[in-house]
Amino acid sequence: YDYLVKTHLKGVALGRAIRYTLSRARARGGEWDSPMFRLAQQQFLKAAQYMGLDDNIRQRLLFPQRTQMVSFPFFRDDRAQVETVFGYRVQHVLSMGPTKGGIRYHEDVDLGEVAALAMWMTWKCALMKLPFGGAKGGVRVDPTTLSDRELQRLTRRYTTEIIDIIGPDKDIPAPDMGTDERVMAWLMDTYSQQIGHAVPAVVTGKPVVLGGSLGRKEATGRGLVYLIEASAAHLGIELAGATAVIQGFGNVGSHTVIFLAALGVRIIGVSDASTGLYCRDGLSVEALLAHVAEHRVLAGYPDAEAISNAELLELPCDVLVLAALQSQVTVENAARLNCRLLAEGANGPTTLEADDILADHDVFVLPDILGNAGGVTVSYFEWVQGMQNLMWTHEEINRRQQAILLDAFERTLRRAEENHLDMRTAALIEGVTRVTEAKLLRGVFP
Ligand code: GLU
Repeated sequence: YDYLVKTHLKGVALGRAIRYTLSRARARGGEWDSPMFRLAQQQFLKAAQYMGLDDNIRQRLLFPQRTQMVSFPFFRDDRAQVETVFGYRVQHVLSMGPTKGGIRYHEDVDLGEVAALAMWMTWKCALMKLPFGGAKGGVRVDPTTLSDRELQRLTRRYTTEIIDIIGPDKDIPAPDMGTDERVMAWLMDTYSQQIGHAVPAVVTGKPVVLGGSLGRKEATGRGLVYLIEASAAHLGIELAGATAVIQGFGNVGSHTVIFLAALGVRIIGVSDASTGLYCRDGLSVEALLAHVAEHRVLAGYPDAEAISNAELLELPCDVLVLAALQSQVTVENAARLNCRLLAEGANGPTTLEADDILADHDVFVLPDILGNAGGVTVSYFEWVQGMQNLMWTHEEINRRQQAILLDAFERTLRRAEENHLDMRTAALIEGVTRVTEAKLLRGVFP
């Protein structure tokens, strides 16, 4: 906020009401206040400022509409002592249709992080023109320490705690960091047990045999690569023979690597929480996948040089993909990035200050709400198929996904070029404009 006022909003009066609301929320310890939620708010305020967004609507969109915080008891398999676990579900905008967004299991999850992710889901869905508002859920737990039985128990209890506010017409969860299709199956089963019949459309990203969609598992990586192709064409980069570095080797990172390699891109660096790997001549994707299938992590992979995360991010390359955590590109390292295209598969990997530095260094940014929107787009297809008991083919899903992503890319690029904006602000304006229109048409109740 301070940085925003110092730079982008210099000399511009932020609405008095907004200034008052923000400072009061923060003074009280702010229910959602956290570095990540501030980043989401700052990005939104920057876009709102360029748009000249009405003060009333700006204030309305600054905070989530609905927040559920839960705590519940949890037993480890081998321990008699009960742990208290904290969980959240935040719905940012309820005006666009049901709310939509993943569930994150991570040891650092807090309310502010979930709220920020929910706000980004709102803009992401609106940018893609999907009939959803944004939501997100999270449980503060390190899933790598849980057995399968523990993971299942935790998921069922968390689902029970949030059951009143989810549903196929209300709020539809999906996977995010630390959760996968098994977790979605348990969530769907728990919900269905309470309702009395199978309700596949309560969740997306579930196994195909339970009503999941073809193509959902790889959708975020596939979508990101469609957008990297479009960006490369715009920048005049020939992808065959180009070099790429990918931070993160989970669902998004690993699928991005697979699809990039299929285009002839040389993967010179990858990383996960265990290590970074570098090989100038290119890493073998098959060998990396086989190593991770066997050892769960990249550490110990033989045919590459082990490097730190900081070194990985600064490797000279054509395309740098961020597919791990938030706050990776900051004022500390932004000037040292050595790529032409920064593709964000993660949510919130770049800070506001870093955005300005990247713009000064002519790095083309595919911002998160565009870059990783392939996931929620195929989630939308999964939900539609579930509501209608229909099954689409793989070809149909890929074709529709690509069309939606490229349309959003072109609208964003056009707006950025016409108004001399960075891609993130242009993408946000696309999303915020749609939500604003809907809010104004619906009016204020009562
Ligand atoms: N968690 C993913 C995201 O951040 C997917 C959400 C969804 O499919 O609903 O976009």
